[in-house]
Amino acid sequence: MGLKILIMGPQGVGKGTQAARLAEHFKVQAISTGDIFRYNIKHNTTLGKKVQEIISSGNLVSDELTGELVRDALSLNNAAEEGFILDGYPRNKNQVVDLDATLDELGLTLDAVVVLTADRDTLLERMILRAENEGRADDTPEAIAKRLDIYDSETAPLMNEYRARGLLVAVEGTGEVSDITARIVAELEKL
Ligand code: AMP
Repeated sequence: MGLKILIMGPQGVGKGTQAARLAEHFKVQAISTGDIFRYNIKHNTTLGKKVQEIISSGNLVSDELTGELVRDALSLNNAAEEGFILDGYPRNKNQVVDLDATLDELGLTLDAVVVLTADRDTLLERMILRAENEGRADDTPEAIAKRLDIYDSETAPLMNEYRARGLLVAVEGTGEVSDITARIVAELEKL
């Protein structure tokens, strides 16, 4: 079975970039809830229409909808056998409970939870740049602030849970993209 990890970190820390690079390195799938939502919005699907406004305001989509999406992604794409990097999920306590149930059901256990860290000023700077370059609908100043607040209050506390389970791998998310990848790979190879 391939590597099975979560990657967590505040918006703008480079989670998506690192998830893609790690997926390539370890030959596993990167599953990003944010990307799945954005794809559905772009193609104007039923799901996309449902989540569009929530996402552009910087709020979280319901746990139920997101949980179903993750369960489908993990059970359909052979992710179990091939391994996976789940990016952007779970984001609150309830989602941890849902993910535990899904993994249990599929007979899977996580190998590690990677957390990327950076200070708020660095994050804001990167998100402003990204807004200019990519024009993401949820990269308005209000939505950015909202997402960082939700991360601090709901998502960051999950680190304690995964630390208690002995799964946490915290890596500084600033510096060269390739150096950050190397740091994460080195930590994961120690496992
Ligand atoms: P991201 O690309 O991970 O920053 O996700 C973009 C947006 O998609 C978030 O701001 C949320 O509105 C939504 N989203 C992504 N993952 C989740 C999740 N696990 N739970 C709820 N909403 C999510």
